[in-house]
Amino acid sequence: MSDDLCAHDGYLTSCDAIVTDLREVGIVLDRTVFYARGGGQPGDTGELIWEGGRCRIVDTVKSREDGEILHVVDPGAEAPIAGTAVTAEIDWDRRFLHMRTHTALHALSGIVFTGWGAKVTGGNMDSSGTARMDFELDGISQEFGREVEERLNARLAEDVPVHVSFLPRAEAFADPDLIRTKVSLIPDHVDPIRVIDIEGIDKQADGGTHVRSTSEVGRVRVVKTESKGKANKRMRIELEER
Ligand SMILES: [Zn+2]
Repeated sequence: MSDDLCAHDGYLTSCDAIVTDLREVGIVLDRTVFYARGGGQPGDTGELIWEGGRCRIVDTVKSREDGEILHVVDPGAEAPIAGTAVTAEIDWDRRFLHMRTHTALHALSGIVFTGWGAKVTGGNMDSSGTARMDFELDGISQEFGREVEERLNARLAEDVPVHVSFLPRAEAFADPDLIRTKVSLIPDHVDPIRVIDIEGIDKQADGGTHVRSTSEVGRVRVVKTESKGKANKRMRIELEER
């Protein structure tokens, strides 16, 4: 399996690597800084550069068969052959926006749970700094959206540190925060379990890339509140420009 560098350090923008396999879906590297789409976060785009060539990577996904990270090459581009030494470089501005958005969503889920006891039922983000999150709430209103927005921004502005850690499975299964956020749904073979802890706001098992501190998120607007069913209410958020 390739070494997944962004799981440990989301701020790496490039790395040297060797092409180990060429699959129908995409290229496999021995190590990579590219994030493979998952957990609501889009896959990275960027470039592979080698002596005498370069190609665009238009998406990064995980193999359904073995979980390997696959770099999807622009259909019109020529891919490097196995054994080629490459530099793998992500589109950093796009990725950093995903990191800010992802941390904003986790903070939002923590704020809504702490304030109203509502659990998250789903969520997703796109590449332009907007995202949605669904909550197990009986009702939702614009006033509620404004209240959440106010509390969320107040907490984000406090410059709260965001920690990445790897917990032994048994330990993760004993943590009330992680139980609440359904750590039990993680496949049996995953051990240790990666945990994102926004100190005092939200803690959950997660594979995504996040900023180091909530101040890097900036301000968030709740742009829409809507009902998506009896106990399923949706909030749409948008990150303000920094
Ligand atoms: Zn997440």
